[in-house]
This record gives sequence, structure tokens and C-alpha cells, in this order.
Amino acid sequence: MLAVAVFPAKREVRIIDHPEPVIVSPTQAKMRVLDVGVCGTDREIVSFQYGTPPDGFEYLVIGHESLSEVVEIGPQVSKVKPGDLVVMTVRRPCPHASCVACRKGRQDYCFTGDYTERGIKQQHGYMTEFVVEEECYLSVVPPGLRDVAVLVEPLTIAEKSLEQLSFVQQRLPWGDTHRAVVLGAGPVGLLGAMALRIAGFEVTVYSRSHSQSEKNEIVSAIGAHYMAAETNSVEQMAKIAGPIDVVYEAVGASSVAFDVIEHLGPNGVFIFTGVPGRKGPIEVDTDYIMKDVVLNNQVILGSVNAPLHCFEYAVRDLGVAMERWPAAVRALITARYPIGQALQPLSSDAGGIKNVVAVAS
Ligand SMILES: [Zn+2]
Ligand SMILES: [Zn+2]
Repeated sequence: MLAVAVFPAKREVRIIDHPEPVIVSPTQAKMRVLDVGVCGTDREIVSFQYGTPPDGFEYLVIGHESLSEVVEIGPQVSKVKPGDLVVMTVRRPCPHASCVACRKGRQDYCFTGDYTERGIKQQHGYMTEFVVEEECYLSVVPPGLRDVAVLVEPLTIAEKSLEQLSFVQQRLPWGDTHRAVVLGAGPVGLLGAMALRIAGFEVTVYSRSHSQSEKNEIVSAIGAHYMAAETNSVEQMAKIAGPIDVVYEAVGASSVAFDVIEHLGPNGVFIFTGVPGRKGPIEVDTDYIMKDVVLNNQVILGSVNAPLHCFEYAVRDLGVAMERWPAAVRALITARYPIGQALQPLSSDAGGIKNVVAVAS
């Protein structure tokens, strides 16, 4: 079957013939892959910045944002049946008995770093025709979300962040927070803005993005405010959007993030989700930030990878978003490419918001 694979040692990316997987345990299901989303992580893998093939392979099949249809199930599978649409989680547990997180099924909090990730680290991914997986890693999607469910995985970033936020803010006896700022208007930022709106926040999206009108339209449609960094300084933004209870960072650029940290409000939480490239040191007023964090009971929180229940929250919220703002959700998907043309959206930033490889229809 066809698969998109990266050969790190040879520095090659190409479409290959990859053996079709078969069910080997009674709790596995076989899926026909429908859609695979392309993100910055994939572009970094195909430019050989990371990505590790499984043991015994010189290549890694890429792709971790997927939507598939179940075509066959093992005799002990009870959660899904052939014909069901599913999204698969990404991270798999490390092997160490001492890792309480992985042993509890919470590999998103793995202590050892020896977890694996489908399409990223030592496990083949989903940009291929068929995949076999244990049913415990499958999240069922209603048929009505067929066209947009490839957005579930990037939405899980917001879902895990919001869950952690609610745990942290249980420290406040009145319980709720109101004003959120989202940094960045890429797919992670826009999906984060939608999740925050659904959770009842007033949302300002602050972005350096150039294709502003398209993103501005999506942001307005969901009842959030768009502020372009080109025309509004961080100070101006904070004055209008504040006092800021939550910052959801989705730019992966530390300089803008640390500019905004200085404007986090009392009892605020700053959530980092981006992984910046190393660009060398920048100047930050650390005394000011440290003083502010202490005097305002602030929390700076990092969040990575999502457990299965956050995939379920993402499926639920994507359904809510499709009821409230169907055009805005659909507008997040810019283009679909057949698998034979998958290298196009992978090799350079194809523009738009989310590009998708439509493996099957
Ligand atoms: Zn991704
Ligand atoms: Zn672990």
C-alpha cells in the first residue's frame, strides 16, 4: 500500500510501497485512513529536524493528525465496529515499570521520555492507506463530523490545556475566569479560540499573521476579537483585552510570549503549547516578570500531548463548533491533496490554515 515516508539517514522523503498491516491481537482494529492533517511538526520531520524510524526500519511513515474508518475488528473489540469513524491518539507508553504516568495510561505525562509517538518517534504514522491499532487508542467520531474531524487531534491541544487550567483555577473559591488571549492565528490558535469560546471565555486573538482578512473573518464569526500585532502593540492589546485571566500561547515564538507574560492579570495562568526553534538568547526583564508572578499568584504552565479523554472532549467541542459556526470551522481546512501529491503541502508552507492529505474518500 502507499505511504509517505521520511528516510532520515538518506535525507529523503518519498511515497513508498509499505506492507499492509494485519490484526495480530484480539483487541485491535484495522482502519482505512481517510484524512491526514499536515502541521509544523510534519514539516520539521520532512526537513530532518526530528522524526525517528521504528527499530529495524530505515524510514518513518509520517502523519499523526488523522481520521479513519474501521474496516475490520478483532474478536474482543467492543468499542467500535466496521463503518465507524475514528481518530487515533498519538503517544504510546514507555516500557519502564517505574514510570507511574505511563503505567496509569497517562503517557502524556511520561517521566522517562522513552514514550513513542505515531508518525513522529519510533512508530509509523497515519499517512498511509491502512492502519492497525489497539481499540484503547481509538476515539469514535459521529458521521456528521466526517468533513472536519481531521481537526480533532490539533483541537486536543486546547482540550488538555483547558482541563489543566480548570484544575489550576480550582484554587480560586469563586471558580471561574473570563478573559482569554490567544497568541497566534494558525490552526492551533484558532481551534484554541473556539474551545475557549465554547468554555465561555471572552477571547482576543493576537497575531502577527499576514493573511489577516481570512483569519479575522473566522475569529469574528466565533465571537472573538482579532488584534493584529502589526497595528497594536502588546501594551495596547493588554489594555483592551485585559485584565487577562488566561493566555493560550500558540505561536511557538518565545519573544512575543515573554512580552505578553508581563501583561498577565492577577491570578492569571499563562499556557505554553508551542515548541520554539532555538534562535539564540533574547532580552527579557526577568526581575519584572518574577515580581509580577509572585505578587499576582500567577501560574506558567506547559502542556503537551493529549490523553484519550481529551480526544473525546475535542470530538464533543468540534460538534458544538459545527452547530454554532459551521462555515468558520470548514474554513479552517484550506485544501485537500491526494496522497500522490502529499509532498506539496509537506515540503513548504502551502499557505492557508490547515492542509489535509485525503488518502481515501
Ligand atoms: Zn500536528
Ligand atoms: Zn513513561
